[in-house]
Amino acid sequence: MECIKCKNEMTKVNFSTIGGIVLETKTNSIFETPETSPVECYVCNKCGYVELKATDYKKF
Ligand SMILES: [Zn+2]
Repeated sequence: MECIKCKNEMTKVNFSTIGGIVLETKTNSIFETPETSPVECYVCNKCGYVELKATDYKKF
């Protein structure tokens, strides 16, 4: 993935809050099962820009 700030190639890293982060759709009741997606994280080692990307984005 290319950095949108400086066009440098970004490095894939773990965005760790213990076990990574997950996107989840909002539901109206506790009986609905939310759609979820893991999140990939990239960091630019030239300018420090961080980018997050949902891996299963088509679910949303
Ligand atoms: Zn950059």
